[in-house]
Amino acid sequence: MTAYDISDFIKDYRQSLLRVFMAFLFLSLCISCKNTAKSVEKIVDTKSTGYQGQAPSPVVPTTNRPVQKQWKGVWTFNNETFFSNDFDGARLNGIAEDGNDHYTIWITAENTPINVSPWYAFKVWTENPREITVKLSYQDSRSRYYPKISRDGLNFKKLDSAQIEILNPGEGDFGINAAPEFVELKLQIGKEPLWISAQELYTSKRVRGWIDSLSVKRFVSNYEIGRSSEKRPMHLMEIKEDATTKKAVMIISRQHPPEVTGFLAMKSFIETLSGESPEAIAFREEFDVFVVPLMNPDGVDNGHWRHNMGGIDLNRDWENFNQPETQSVQNFLNKKSAEGYEFVFGADFHSTWDDIYYPIDSTVTGEKGQIVFDWIDGISNRLPQKQTNIKPSTTIHPTMVSRNYFYVNHNMPAIVFELGDNTPRDFLKEKGKVAAEELMKLLMN
Ligand SMILES: [Zn+2]
Repeated sequence: MTAYDISDFIKDYRQSLLRVFMAFLFLSLCISCKNTAKSVEKIVDTKSTGYQGQAPSPVVPTTNRPVQKQWKGVWTFNNETFFSNDFDGARLNGIAEDGNDHYTIWITAENTPINVSPWYAFKVWTENPREITVKLSYQDSRSRYYPKISRDGLNFKKLDSAQIEILNPGEGDFGINAAPEFVELKLQIGKEPLWISAQELYTSKRVRGWIDSLSVKRFVSNYEIGRSSEKRPMHLMEIKEDATTKKAVMIISRQHPPEVTGFLAMKSFIETLSGESPEAIAFREEFDVFVVPLMNPDGVDNGHWRHNMGGIDLNRDWENFNQPETQSVQNFLNKKSAEGYEFVFGADFHSTWDDIYYPIDSTVTGEKGQIVFDWIDGISNRLPQKQTNIKPSTTIHPTMVSRNYFYVNHNMPAIVFELGDNTPRDFLKEKGKVAAEELMKLLMN
């Protein structure tokens, strides 16, 4: 075949895959339409067998697609009650006042088709303190994220389940089909703003604060490796004790904005590697750590459900590199490889319905990839209270996702490390710490 024949063939093949995927999506949505009453716990329900993982990702184009930017401002009702999305990380696309202190909120995605991760975040306050009811409704989605509230925008806690009413509970056993269509929140509002958010708010400014707080350490530095399309810096943190070291670990997080639990585990992981334990000190004599904690700063600050400002799922762009965020990491890794760095381990932190590991199958990676499986075993042995599934992948071409690119282009044993949306926060922290300790132990042996 000529080059043209081959490219047409690939295009046709990709389009057929996309059609099959869309048909599947439509069918899933139809199945989830009819609902009966179930308890509030359905929001956070997980089967004891654990999350079985997602099907292989379809190949999709990653050239820019239009994004609907949300209108930003304050909605005022009766001159006394105010809702705002005028802050980084917010998502609130419309409100209707229905009478009797009941409000319906409308949450839409930045563009479609899109993964069902309906992010929301807004503030509400009033001159007339009282209880109001707020119904959350979504564009082509259901209520995935359990609402968190905060009085300062920094410290969030789960809204008491007695304050949440489920409307149209999901009929499925797991995932979006188990989620309710709507939820109604009873909120005590006063003169000071109350934040309501899908997950804790970690905006680019807050992540920067964390990077700066670690960078006061002698062996931690940070610098820009590029800029997003809205010119937000792509910060890379470098943990480097010994100038002659040429072995490194590569860590990235938050390609997908709502995936805060993955970020929190990554944060604990990095704090452990840069800690003061004898193991960490010895480890840093042998290995450097490179971290991009916030891969999608535009998506995070704009309150996106999944995509960047180019309207693209960044974790589909590690083959074609059409987006500035993935390009910046590609350029960085190419530079480090050219400097003679050997990458001994890579991890990309995400969140999904429950904790799960997505390594590359050892039939593909052989001896080189064994460290990833030994590492998972080490973590599982130390945290037996949470049984976590492992779903190895045998497909690494096209590279498309970061893990495959890390392995194929930089010979790096790599994994997608997924944490559950509802995994308890103290457990996330512990898991990040144990994961770091087990990695140090393996690499030092
Ligand atoms: Zn993700």
